[in-house]
Amino acid sequence: MHVQTKLVQIGVGSDEKTGAVSIPIHHATAYRHPGLGQSTGFDYTRTANPTRAVLEQAIAEIESGDAGFATASGMAAIQTIMALFSQGDHFVVSLDLYGGTYRLFEQVLSRYGLRFSYVDVRDTEAVRAAVRPETKAIFVETPTNPLMQVTDIAAVVEIARENRLLTIVDNTFMTPYCQRPLELGADIVFHSATKYLGGHNDVLAGLIVTKGKELSEQVKYLHNSIGAVLGPQDCWLLIRGMKTLALRMERHEENAFRVARFLQEHDAVTEVFYPGLTSHPDHEVQKKQASGFSGMVSFRIRDAKLVGPFLQHLRVISFAESLGGVESLCTYPATQTHADIPVEIREKVGVCDRLIRLSVGIEYADDLIADLGYALDQAVKTGGCC
Ligand SMILES: *Cc1c(COP(=O)(O)O)cnc(C)c1O
Repeated sequence: MHVQTKLVQIGVGSDEKTGAVSIPIHHATAYRHPGLGQSTGFDYTRTANPTRAVLEQAIAEIESGDAGFATASGMAAIQTIMALFSQGDHFVVSLDLYGGTYRLFEQVLSRYGLRFSYVDVRDTEAVRAAVRPETKAIFVETPTNPLMQVTDIAAVVEIARENRLLTIVDNTFMTPYCQRPLELGADIVFHSATKYLGGHNDVLAGLIVTKGKELSEQVKYLHNSIGAVLGPQDCWLLIRGMKTLALRMERHEENAFRVARFLQEHDAVTEVFYPGLTSHPDHEVQKKQASGFSGMVSFRIRDAKLVGPFLQHLRVISFAESLGGVESLCTYPATQTHADIPVEIREKVGVCDRLIRLSVGIEYADDLIADLGYALDQAVKTGGCC
C-alpha cells in the first residue's frame, strides 16, 4: 500500500471489540492480568499503551522500519537514541543542525563523556576524515535547519557501513511522505512529530523508528527504562494529524514554491534557500532521494536592520518559533531556534543575522505572498537603510 493510504488508515479496525474507526484513548496506566504469569500484552502504560501501540506500529510501517517508539518530544527521542551509547563514544554530526540538538549534545551529553564532531556531511571526504576509532554513529539532519542543505543519505550510509557505524537521520523536515531514510540504508530515523506529523501546532511529540531486531530490542529497553514516552491523549492527537499528512505536504510544497519564487524576485531579498528550486546547490540530491521538497523556505534579507520592521508588518504569517503546522510561521534563527549556538559557529555555518526562516502553511498562496510583499515593502520604507 502507498504511504498515503497507510497514513489515512492508522488505527482503523484496531479496536476489535467496538469497531471504532477512531482508536480510543486509553488513559489506564494499569491492566488486569488474566492470571498468574499471564498478560493481555499490556501491563503498565510506560512499557506499552494500546493507543500508543497503534501509533508506534503505524510509524514503523510507514518508515519501512521494524519498530516504532513514541516519545514526549523530539528532544526526548534524541535523548532515548543517544542512551544507546557510552562514555567515550564519538559522533560525526551535521554542521548545520537544529539548535536544541546542538545544545543537548554540547551542554548535556558532553558531561556524560560523549564527543561530537560537526562537519558538512555533504562532503564525503570530510565525513571520512572525521571518523575516529571511537566513532559510533553518523548523525544527519537533512535538509538542515535552517539552511536547507541536503545530504546524500545513501552516500553517508556507505561510509557508515565501511566503518561499522550507525546512521541516524532526523527526518523532521521531510516526513516519511517525502523521504524514508531506512529505505536508503539508515539504521535509525526520528522525528520531532511536533512539526509536520502533528501538523497543527498543538501537540509536542517525538517518534523513533529502528531497523533490525537487535537495535529495535535495545531501543525498546531504553524507551521503557528512561520513560520519556508520549501520553495517550497526545498519541491520539498525533494519529489524528498524521491522517492528513499527504494532503498537507502537497499544499505546503505548492505554497513553498510560490513563496520561494516570489522572494527570489524581491529586491529586499538577497538569497533564497529552498531545495525545490533548480538553483539550489543540492536540488539534484534532493530529487534523487526524496519525492518532494516540503514547505520550509529560508531567505536572507538585504540588511539586518530590516528584520525587525519586516516581522512587525506581517499580518497573516505569525512570528513564532516552530514549523510544520497548517498555519504559516516565521522564525528568526539567530535569536530563536539557534540562539544557543555560539555566534562564531553560527556565522561560520551561515545562520547570520539577515537569515529568516519560513514555515509555509497551507493558507491560500496569494494571501501569503501579499503578506510577505507588504511586510518587505514596509520594512524597506521604514527600516532606515539602503
Ligand atoms: C523541533 C525540532 C527538534 C526537536 O523537537 P521537539 O519536538 O521540539 O522536542 C529536533 N529536530 C528538528 C529538525 C526540529 O525541527
